[in-house]
Amino acid sequence: MPSLTLTFLGTGTSQGVPMIGCSCEICKSLDPRDQRTRTSVLVSTEKENILIDTTPDLRFQCLREEVNHVHAVLFTHPHTDHIMGFDDLRRFSELHDAELPIYAAPMTMAKIQEAFRFVFEESRPWKGYLRIKPYLIEGSFSLGDLEITPVPLAHGKMTTLGFVFTRNKQKLLAYYTDCQEVSLEALAHASGTQVLVLDALRDKPHPTHLNFSSAIEAAQMIKPKKTFFTHCCHEVSHATKEKELPADMFLAYDQLKVSLDY
Ligand SMILES: [Zn+2]
Ligand SMILES: [Zn+2]
Ligand SMILES: [Zn+2]
Repeated sequence: MPSLTLTFLGTGTSQGVPMIGCSCEICKSLDPRDQRTRTSVLVSTEKENILIDTTPDLRFQCLREEVNHVHAVLFTHPHTDHIMGFDDLRRFSELHDAELPIYAAPMTMAKIQEAFRFVFEESRPWKGYLRIKPYLIEGSFSLGDLEITPVPLAHGKMTTLGFVFTRNKQKLLAYYTDCQEVSLEALAHASGTQVLVLDALRDKPHPTHLNFSSAIEAAQMIKPKKTFFTHCCHEVSHATKEKELPADMFLAYDQLKVSLDY
């Protein structure tokens, strides 16, 4: 039976956990699940590794998880905690000796081009330094045997793209990070998925991120088999929070792997 594996490369908010210069209980915690690099996942099938976002921790995450091949990269939005490891993609284009396909909404692609101008300039003296093939996301697209539907999510002044992965009309995974709400349209797109990954920054409300109570409410409407919360800040203790969550809802942590048969 074919399977899909979801690897949590990072599960922390923009500054990571522990935070520089913080001596709070969570930042000093010895529980490795409280050590969160910046939020990203790898979606693997037998044939392909699809990376979602390139965090400033990308190199460390790939070495730690022994990710030696990436066949495509999807971007959710251009906040620095999701794009700043972009330059480290060059190792994957070198290993494949091919252009690496990257997928992003037009606004996100423009911001990546602005931040990494040297990669995109035609006249660059180091042409070939990072070989990428940009694709603008303007609707559903396919990678291997997976159909990927982009889902706009409100995130302050930004729009994040969530991604719903489907095979043979069976929804396998909905990945919704960095959002302050899940709209009716986004609920409908994710409804019936096997696995849901959802932003949950902390307990207190936040203007641009879901907190735990709003994330749990959204998950209860989507009704996946399993929900994993991610993008947590240093106010969240893994051991404490996991005891408070409803059945079939879990706190993700770096290095967690979830396998799905389909
Ligand atoms: Zn983020
Ligand atoms: Zn702290
Ligand atoms: Zn963000």
